[in-house]
Amino acid sequence: MTLRRPALSLALLACLPVAAMAQQDPPVTIDTHVDIPATYMRTAQFDVGKDTPLRVDLGKMERGGLNAAFFIIYVEQGPLTKAGYAKALAQATQKYDDIDLMLTKYPDRIRLARTPEQVMANRKAGVLSAMIGIENGYSLGHQLGNLDKAFARGARYIGITHVGNNDLCTSSMPEADLGDAPLAETGLTPFGHSVVTRANQLGIMVDVSHSSDACVRDVLKATKAPIIASHSGAHAIVNHPRNLPDDLLRAIAQNGGVVQAVAYKGFLKLDPGRELAEKALAAQVTKAAGDKQYDSDKIDFLPAYVEGMRKIDAAFPLPNLDDYIKQIRHMVGVAGIDHVGLASDFDGGGGIDGWQNAEQTRNVTEALRKHGFSDDDIAKLWGGNLLRVWKQVDDVAAKEGKNP
Ligand SMILES: [Zn+2]
Repeated sequence: MTLRRPALSLALLACLPVAAMAQQDPPVTIDTHVDIPATYMRTAQFDVGKDTPLRVDLGKMERGGLNAAFFIIYVEQGPLTKAGYAKALAQATQKYDDIDLMLTKYPDRIRLARTPEQVMANRKAGVLSAMIGIENGYSLGHQLGNLDKAFARGARYIGITHVGNNDLCTSSMPEADLGDAPLAETGLTPFGHSVVTRANQLGIMVDVSHSSDACVRDVLKATKAPIIASHSGAHAIVNHPRNLPDDLLRAIAQNGGVVQAVAYKGFLKLDPGRELAEKALAAQVTKAAGDKQYDSDKIDFLPAYVEGMRKIDAAFPLPNLDDYIKQIRHMVGVAGIDHVGLASDFDGGGGIDGWQNAEQTRNVTEALRKHGFSDDDIAKLWGGNLLRVWKQVDDVAAKEGKNP
């Protein structure tokens, strides 16, 4: 049966009471990529209703004027084996449970948004919105039915790959340790193709951040709906394999999609010294923790790692808001103002000088304004474009007639 969802009215954006917004805040601010640590909501340290060491907690969102965030179901790439899939699926299930804990504990402060209309309704009601994005389709455990289950739990985008090729597609950063060939000429696998098709039918945005260029091209051919890059940079500005070349920025714009420019240090400024120092720190803290493999969800939040990063930040200065705006400007120049958005990658390595946490959200708005972006432009960048794409993805799902 086809369920028709109500149309997102632009009037919704306009009818927000002015008093409900801090002065000069955009109609809505959406961060499309916020990671969560391994013990999110299950240890006092990561209870986001309180002050936490996280870059995003409810207080920081409220004070900083960040209205909505996609919280991420991330799993690290592992072997394409039965045991590997089972482990990834279990890790993902835990993260959905952890986000549920947040939603059930603080219903007066944050609510799940399953549609773009709910984001605006929550905004109007003065509560935050939590959305859910998947990072790494590996966590579907190689079963298409798990995408339906993810949708039922609230997932509204699926990042096809992460670091390392998986059973869906090839990565922008293949992993020799996983047996990946260095350069990917191939993109979607038959399973990956079926995931894109099913995502279109369900109303899940397909996310190509982390995917190889060949993979992005295949996804663009396969999809019937606009796609997103939930946290990516511009390759023409910084030559990093995770950054998107201009031809793909244009292709995503032609598809009607949106590229969310990410405030991630390594994609905004090449700093090989810093990279080496970070790698050494990660290896050292992983070893001290008695682990064999570095897991960002755990290691990044250990005191030794945090202290080490503080020293690295002092020795190798982070990129700043000007570096970030430079990439946004480039993306807007190539793809157009209707096809660019903003993302932090907070608590997953993101954060720059001037936008270190959700509490500093207004610094980004001010920097955009300083660099000549109009209020209209800023409204599009901060969420208008993403909501438009999400709505179109919903419309395609309704037309396909197979959504639940
Ligand atoms: Zn990522």
